[in-house]
Amino acid sequence: MIIGRIERADEKDYPGKSAVTIYVCGCNLRCSYCGYAGLLGTCNLDTGHDWDYAERYIRNHLDRIDAVIFSGGEPTLQEDLKERMLEVKEMGLSVKLETNGTKPEVLRDLLMSDLVDFVSMDVKAPLENYASVVGCRLDVELIRTSVWVVKQSGVAHEFRTTVVPGLHTTRELKAISELIHGADRYVVQDFISTNPLRGELRGRPAFPHKPLEDIRAYVERRVQAYEIRHAEEAQQMPVARRRMRSKTAVAV
Ligand code: SF4
Repeated sequence: MIIGRIERADEKDYPGKSAVTIYVCGCNLRCSYCGYAGLLGTCNLDTGHDWDYAERYIRNHLDRIDAVIFSGGEPTLQEDLKERMLEVKEMGLSVKLETNGTKPEVLRDLLMSDLVDFVSMDVKAPLENYASVVGCRLDVELIRTSVWVVKQSGVAHEFRTTVVPGLHTTRELKAISELIHGADRYVVQDFISTNPLRGELRGRPAFPHKPLEDIRAYVERRVQAYEIRHAEEAQQMPVARRRMRSKTAVAV
């Protein structure tokens, strides 16, 4: 496992826990809005860190943390992920996994091994529109299977969509809530436009919040909790444009 970055997690990342996040290198998708371009390749030790470094970091913070989040990049591509999670559990810490859901068999194995206390899986679009968001060909049945694996696992979980104006509509978010029907929680989160993979998204304002709120009753009939997660870094749309967009571009 090569690690691109390690940092203290935000409270929202693992509610109720004080955590560090390990961002592993390497991802099999190329989401147009991805803000982690530096983590998409395999990296090397000139630009990243090995597990020994991460382990030292975690041990140095043991008196201040009670959880480790494996994120990326895509952690389920890492052959030693299970071994590293086991080491973290043996330190007495909780483990959260953040995944894009493209490796359902790896996910099933981890969740059945009691190594994961909380799993957060991205559902990036309704299945029929996936390719337009993830930037590559993908068998979307893998995503359907992973949704099922997560819901059946008995592990605390959430599904997340990063909402991007022009890529998503509230109609699609409603469709995603149907796909994940019965889930613990559905989180829609702001897109950060400072450094997206696709240049034309740079500077694009966040999805307006009112339409996200307007679909709350619909979504809450399908999942146990619905959360709109605002990011302070998200570019806010000027009020006049926001009004105009909510009447035109945003389907409800
Ligand atoms: S946003 Fe997409 S491309 Fe970026 S790390 Fe996540 S899954 Fe990979």
